[in-house]
Amino acid sequence: MKEMIGKVAGFFNGIQNIVVLTGAGMSVDSGIPAFRGSQGLWSKYDPMEYASIDAFCNNPVKVWKMLKELDEAVACAEPNPAHYSLAELERMGRVSLLVTQNIDGLHQAAGSRQVVEFHGSQRRLRCLSCGRTFSRNEVMMLEDPPRCLCGGLIKPDIVFFGEEIPERAIKAAFAMSSICQLMLVVGSSAQVAPASHLPLLAKQAGARVVEINLEKTALSEEISDVVLLGDAGEILPELVEQIREKCDD
Ligand code: NAD
Repeated sequence: MKEMIGKVAGFFNGIQNIVVLTGAGMSVDSGIPAFRGSQGLWSKYDPMEYASIDAFCNNPVKVWKMLKELDEAVACAEPNPAHYSLAELERMGRVSLLVTQNIDGLHQAAGSRQVVEFHGSQRRLRCLSCGRTFSRNEVMMLEDPPRCLCGGLIKPDIVFFGEEIPERAIKAAFAMSSICQLMLVVGSSAQVAPASHLPLLAKQAGARVVEINLEKTALSEEISDVVLLGDAGEILPELVEQIREKCDD
């Protein structure tokens, strides 16, 4: 593994445009379960029944129960070594853009600044009618789905199935992915579109694609140049060390 990480560290030499795409696997060590897998939220709540905009509008009381559970997991989570390593890579000038599918805010908590939240943020809420935003402290403690002053339903500002990806996020992520020279995919099964298109776009642009996941994914055979199978919380700190040693530009 150390040798494979060394090979990946070498990829960072002499290049400028590096995009990182992260997913739920990043935050498992922080206590937020991934959606898939036996510990995942989706083993308890069927996503189509709970995480679609239609489900929320039709039965907000039911969906709020799941949202409260997600909120509790996110509220007490702290960044783990994988988050801190990506923040350190950015400080070293080795990350141009970090696109995260996570809604937990842990990249920013670890110090990453160039972050695109592709699926929004659990730490912010929005009225579906007037668009007014709220911090979670203002409304998340309420038991029932809260209502805005305008009477509209308030929902965490996360992208449910059936909702559009925020336009700024999609523009920034697609623009950088189509000119990047290296894409790191960390803790994502790359099954959720359109985020799953970003590695393909990078590959078509001639970038190398490196994947860090516990198990192989749809990217592993056709798209990824290197697949590092293991815990991102162990692999990324080692990668940072080896980039320090190997990259002289
Ligand atoms: P996913 O659940 O489909 O896949 C998780 C991937 O992470 C798997 O490939 C697994 O091998 C890998 N993984 C798990 N633990 C790991 C570790 N310690 N180190 C390295 N890899 C690890 O996740 P996804 O592709 O992000 O898609 C799920 C969707 O659910 C996303 O859209 C995301 O918005 C949402 N989600 C977010 C959070 C969060 O914000 N923390 C949590 C659950 C789900």
